[in-house]
Amino acid sequence: MGKIVQLSDELSNKIAAGEVVERPASVVKELVENAIDANSTVIEIDLEEAGLSKIRILDNGDGIEQEDCLTAFRRHATSKIKTETDLFRIRTLGFRGEALPSIASVSELELKTSTGDEAGTHLVLRGGEIIKHELTSSRKGTDIIVQGLFFNTPARLKYMKTVNTELGNVTDVVNRLAMAHPNVSFRLMHQGRQLLYTNGNGDVRQVLAAIYGIGVAKKMVPISVQSLDYEVDGYVALPEVTRASRNYMSTIINGRFVKNYGLAKAIQQGYHTLLPIGRYPIVFLNIKMDPLLIDVNVHPAKLEVRLSKEAELYELMEQAVKGAFKKQRLIPDAVVSK
Ligand code: ADP
Ligand code: MG
Repeated sequence: MGKIVQLSDELSNKIAAGEVVERPASVVKELVENAIDANSTVIEIDLEEAGLSKIRILDNGDGIEQEDCLTAFRRHATSKIKTETDLFRIRTLGFRGEALPSIASVSELELKTSTGDEAGTHLVLRGGEIIKHELTSSRKGTDIIVQGLFFNTPARLKYMKTVNTELGNVTDVVNRLAMAHPNVSFRLMHQGRQLLYTNGNGDVRQVLAAIYGIGVAKKMVPISVQSLDYEVDGYVALPEVTRASRNYMSTIINGRFVKNYGLAKAIQQGYHTLLPIGRYPIVFLNIKMDPLLIDVNVHPAKLEVRLSKEAELYELMEQAVKGAFKKQRLIPDAVVSK
């Protein structure tokens, strides 16, 4: 008699949740990314206790068809890729088909969704099990409420930090998504208090002002450069407004916020000697490239990516930042053209 058994769907979803759903901020990230992928133009995020007791995400996107609603909660079920070729040409934020089943397996999740063309679907799941499935109104878009996160995984629940810390993480996630998607209007509410509002008019500087304050936004210099494989635009703050952490250096590749050490280093080198030791700049860089040259299938949260032509990008970034300050006459010409 063999000893190896195939795990149940329920158990494998919980295992996946361990990677995908680390804390309230990861739930918010996955659900807002879904809303963006569904072409929403207005996304509202409403939290209680930093999302530990309740997270609600309301969008006006494409919605999910009646017949797809149960499939959406199956592992590796996605509308975003079909073939291996698609996997190497990712244009959406999601593609793994893991978020909905993972989140549902460790919470009580309520979904109301409609494409606007037929009656909507109302689903309630608890610990991944469907406890309600009925038709509802046909308001186009999706409304998801996640309550009691980690109610059935006590060890994970215990690992949660204070409301303030968790709220900080959620705010970081929403701020980054709002910066990367200035064409979408975001509203973040916490216990009835508005923490962020962007109007979705496409002006990144206004989003930066909403996040960092008008004072900082006014001290950000626009940059726009391109090379053979990359197109970069964004804003870099004057060296007089620095921060004590790298967290204010936001790099977006094809609409996705990514962390890349080489990129951060290239930007800092662009500032040359203008940054005081231990201080980091505030930057927002929106990088566009052929999806074939980037591998986003590295990490479940897709925060890390692999670039096939990274040296070219680093060089471009360093020169772009130097160029911005050359225009401001902060760096002498001799240094820029080096
Ligand atoms: P992925 O985003 O990787 O495809 P998810 O588990 O996050 O996987 O979502 C599964 C599917 O459910 C998506 O592919 C999409 O078709 C649908 N979906 C999820 N959220 C939304 C939403 N807010 N609006 C429209 N469709 C959605
Ligand atoms: Mg998703």
